[in-house]
Order: sequence, then structure tokens, then C-alpha cells
Amino acid sequence: MAERSYFDWNATAPLRAEARAGMVSSLSLTGNASSVHAEGRAARRLVEEARASVAALVGAEANNVTFTSGATEANMLALTPALEIGGRKYPRDRLFVSAIEHPSVRSGGRFAAHAVEELPVTGDGRLDLAELARRIAKAERPLVSVMLANNETGVIQPIAEIAAVVHAAAGVLHVDAVQGAGRIDCGIDQLHADLLSVSAHKLGGPQGAGALIRRGDIHIAEPLIKGGGQERGLRAGTENVAAIAGFGAAASAAAAARQGDAVRMAALRDRLEAGLKATTPQAVIFGESGNRLPNTTLFAIPGLKAETAIIVFDLNGIAVSSGSACSSGRVQASHVLAAMGVEPALAGGAVRVSLGWTTSDRDIENLLNALTNVVSSLLNKHMNAGMAA
Ligand code: PMP
Repeated sequence: MAERSYFDWNATAPLRAEARAGMVSSLSLTGNASSVHAEGRAARRLVEEARASVAALVGAEANNVTFTSGATEANMLALTPALEIGGRKYPRDRLFVSAIEHPSVRSGGRFAAHAVEELPVTGDGRLDLAELARRIAKAERPLVSVMLANNETGVIQPIAEIAAVVHAAAGVLHVDAVQGAGRIDCGIDQLHADLLSVSAHKLGGPQGAGALIRRGDIHIAEPLIKGGGQERGLRAGTENVAAIAGFGAAASAAAAARQGDAVRMAALRDRLEAGLKATTPQAVIFGESGNRLPNTTLFAIPGLKAETAIIVFDLNGIAVSSGSACSSGRVQASHVLAAMGVEPALAGGAVRVSLGWTTSDRDIENLLNALTNVVSSLLNKHMNAGMAA
């Protein structure tokens, strides 16, 4: 295959070598992690090592990590009225989610539709804190879910400030940290989050593994999947040892490389944005004024549809996506940009470029070269339209 440059890390990242090695060696084990014999204990050891690694990534205790099939399931597990704090029932009567959440949070988890309310964001993609305070004051026992960083724009939310508002209203805060984990600090204590979701495949682990991490005294009284009592009764079903082992290895590698990677990615991202502005001064970068992940740029060039741009980029060896990849295939207006008040015509041109730890200077060069072709396809279209008229 001709040289390709992959810029869709927010959709999924390549498997890290450490994760691959951990998974391959786990596949030679026979035991069920719940069995007491030596084979079972060997599988259990891998699961518990991985639990410690994931816990370390978010500064939590291993006991408070529950493995799931991914962040979608972790979000579903977390978003339930049936919470307990300090061993006492602490049922939630209302769920508040920001308007820019991933669909797995926006769907409301295990709350009835009438008990779910969306919170607005400002034009720069940050949660409107005054509105948050005003809305949750009306609920008796709110559960609030706000993401650490947005998968489309990369905008980072001021989670500690949000937590202060939520806790002042006797609320519980769940944070979808999928896009932040391994890229920025996501210590559960620093964020003052009560519940945190992470996904393995965004940080170099396999697809189909994730975790919900709880603050020590919070408990979920109603599991999503009931059965054999695995994961301390919070998630039944024989553990996917290979995926969990890969997740753990990726979490350790991501934590070790995080600071260096963030500096490198930010420099590459800045170079990309400078090149974008030089080629197309009319380009709009969404959320640019706010605090963003070091690896994400969401931009639009007025008059250029995202579908067209993505195809031309792809033909030029560049993998990028439009808005959120979870809903791509179907090109849909981005609910994130709509919530930020971006007009639909411009939002329809949003192209997401996301970088990762293998992204190189050469990849950025390739992308900027391809951009020239993307822009000239736009000019050609206008010229053809002009001639036909
Ligand atoms: N939350 C966010 C912010 C995401 O970007 C994603 C993945 N696109 C998810 C949740 C779902 O994660 P998973 O793929 O592990 O179910």
C-alpha cells in the first residue's frame, strides 16, 4: 500500500507493542480467573495486574476499578439512579448531561428519558457553569455527567470547577475521561470526580475493553449485567483476560509516555494549524480559544463539505474523519458543533484531525500537501459551477 498517514486517533489508536505482547502471552493461559486452582490463579494474576495499572493511570485504588466491555458499558454502568455512598443508599432523582457528550452518555444510561436534562455549553465548547448551578439547584439528588475532553473538538472541561458546583448541590459527578486518559492528567482526586470512565482502545489497548473507576466510598447498587458475580458483583461474565491484560499494559505504557508525548503532539498540532492557516486563511478551527487536548484539531473551510474533504484526503493517503467517527459512515450534523452555536453549513464541513504517539513530522507534511489538493478540488468545483451557470 502507498504511504498512509493516520490521523484518526480519537476514533481509535493502534495497538501498542506492550499491549500486543501482553495479550499474546495471556492467550496461552487456560484458566478461568474465578477458578481456585493454579491455572485459574494465573489468569487472575493477569487481571489483577491490569487492574493495578489502570488504577495507577487515574490515581485510584485498584479495588475501585471495574472492567467492562468498553467505555460505552462503563458509562451505562455509572449512569444509574441506584448509587450508594458510604454504604448508605443515595438514589439519584435526575441526570444532567452536557449537550456535547458522547452518545453513550447523552442516551441517559439507566435513567428514564423524562429524568434526563441536557446542559448547554458556551460558544467555545465549555460547559456553562452558571447554568449548571441554576439547573441542578432544582433537583434534589442530581447525578451530573460531563466529559473530560470532547472527542470532536478536543476542548477540555474545567472538571474540578464543575465538581465544586456539583458537590455544593449534593450532587454526584461522573466524568467520561475516554479522550483525556493517557493524554492529559486525569487523576480522579485532582479532578474531584466521583466516577470515571475510560476505554482501552484510545490509549493503545484493544477495542472492546474499558473500565469504570469509582471514588472509594461510592458504590453502584444495581449492576448492568447480572450473573456469576464477577468484578465483585458489578459486572458478571467470565473476564476477557486477553483484552484486560492488553488494557493494563497499554495503560502503563501510556502513563509512562504521557508527558513527553503531549509536548511532541502539541508541537506537531501547532505546526499543522499554522500550515492550515497559511494555505487557507478562511479556515475556522473550532474551540481554538479554549483549553484543548494536545492532539486534536477540528476545522472547516467554508464552502467545502466534510464528505468531499475526507475522500480527497483519503485518496491522498490521509485518514481523517468528519466530526465523530462513532456516527460516521452516516454523515450527520455534529451535535457538538450545534451545541456550540456553529451554523449548520459551516458545521457540515468539519474535518477532525487527531494525532497520536507515532505521528511524525513527515505525517504533518503529508497532510499539508494533501490539503493543497483538497483546497484545489474546492476551487475546481467552484470554477466548474461557474462555467455551467
Ligand atoms: N466516550 C467518548 C468521549 C468516546 O470518544 C468514546 C469512543 N468513541 C466512547 C465514550 C465509547 O467508548 P468505547 O468505544 O470503548 O465504547
